[in-house]
Amino acid sequence: MASATSPAAPAPGDTPVRVRFCPSPTGNPHVGLVRTALFNWAFARHHHGTLVFRIEDTDAARDSEESYGRLLDAMRWLGLDWDEGPEVGGPYAPYRQSQRMDVYADVARRLLEAGRAYECYCSAEELETRREAARAAGRPSGYDGQCRDLTDGQRAAYRAEGRDPIVRFRMPDRTVTFTDLVRGELSFAPENVPDYGIVRANGAPLYTLVNPVDDALMGITHVLRGEDLLSSTPRQIALYEALAELGVGTGGTPLFGHLPYVMGEGNKKLSKRDPQASLNLYRERGFLPDGLLNYLSLLGWSFSADQDVFSLDELVERFEIADVNANPARFDLKKAEAINADHIRLLDVKAFADACEPWLRAPFAPWAPEAFDEAAWQAVAPHAQTRLTVLSDITANVDFLFLPEPVFDEASWTKAMKEGSDALLRTARENLAAADWSAPEPLKDAVLVAGEAHGLKLGKAQAPVRVAVTGRTVGLPLFESLQVLGRERTLARIDAALARLAG
Ligand code: GLU
Ligand code: ZN
Repeated sequence: MASATSPAAPAPGDTPVRVRFCPSPTGNPHVGLVRTALFNWAFARHHHGTLVFRIEDTDAARDSEESYGRLLDAMRWLGLDWDEGPEVGGPYAPYRQSQRMDVYADVARRLLEAGRAYECYCSAEELETRREAARAAGRPSGYDGQCRDLTDGQRAAYRAEGRDPIVRFRMPDRTVTFTDLVRGELSFAPENVPDYGIVRANGAPLYTLVNPVDDALMGITHVLRGEDLLSSTPRQIALYEALAELGVGTGGTPLFGHLPYVMGEGNKKLSKRDPQASLNLYRERGFLPDGLLNYLSLLGWSFSADQDVFSLDELVERFEIADVNANPARFDLKKAEAINADHIRLLDVKAFADACEPWLRAPFAPWAPEAFDEAAWQAVAPHAQTRLTVLSDITANVDFLFLPEPVFDEASWTKAMKEGSDALLRTARENLAAADWSAPEPLKDAVLVAGEAHGLKLGKAQAPVRVAVTGRTVGLPLFESLQVLGRERTLARIDAALARLAG
């Protein structure tokens, strides 16, 4: 595909763009996560900026090393490269939050000292009771600020009771307004954004603290993330302001853009537990990374009114966050497959053949490794390339070449083998036996003439031949396939089908 490189549009405010992709290593990577990574990557590349890859692994109960490995593997497979982060390093290392705990403890202490945060001694039950009461009275049910102004004596008394406090951030008593890069101006009234916890009673810092602290320290200029995080944005903006006052980080508040929800089956939000959401599924089925990324970029964005297949270079050239649509996007598997199929067609034959490799070998391929014939594969590869939707389909398309017997699909057999098929097959066999096997055309003529002898058009005449030789009613072009399979094996398979019909 054409590689389009033209000077990128200047970044808003002309500060060098620094964005981050900062997943938590839980479970398996899913398509929603990949969409977020992709938009950040495209935005960074478009603006010749920096993509920071940060691992938010502060929740020891949920995070795993295995999941961390899968995240890195997914990014490498997709071809989404990062400029700072794991395995790459960078000026703000380490990029795994589990290795930055002293940073967060220090910031929490400074927030407490400055009065921007306070100790809250309320127990979970007390909070729940007051929440219920507030709800019943029709008042906002968030934290009520009870511990905002405790005296030293009150704190000591709570401690004497054996209570361990959490640290709560003190929200300013004013409306927080910001201009979302996707949604425009948004305002949050103080009664809707209560004071919130930033450190657990056991001292463990929460996402609410570590995420903005690292964004501030790492000089993040733009935060592009899912709409599900929109409610945390006013809290984080207030926290950035407090951090700037304390001199933590570079002082600026990033601009935010919230990417639209992705809807799955039945117009429900695609959940990360949805099997359809698993990145592995697409990888195992043989989506090309570029095909999948092309499709995922269309979840909330569009390339142009009349083109939805494009290269990553073209995506980078065109990608503007202002063009992202705030409306929910629908995940459409058929469209994803169609776009992937187009990307398969766009490969050069060599790249296509290479991409098919995993499915031509164990454990995916059902044939013995020594039965694989490279020359036969090279001969049919160009025909396969125009037909596949996903690469894993290659196995069923070429297995007739490498298995001793075709795999008979019973439905295909019943459909193709009709009254009179045996007579047709006998004539076809005779003609094929006498044909010139140096090209596909004489083989086609052999079957055509056999069909004429039985009053059948070519399409009808070739169906039983195809099923006898390949086991299926659909597949690669038949006469090219026969030629690659060879005279001897073709005739033997027709004989076997005749025997089966007679039996
Ligand atoms: N670790 C957070 C998550 O995976 C990051 C959210 C954000 O981008 O701010 O949800
Ligand atoms: Zn409290």
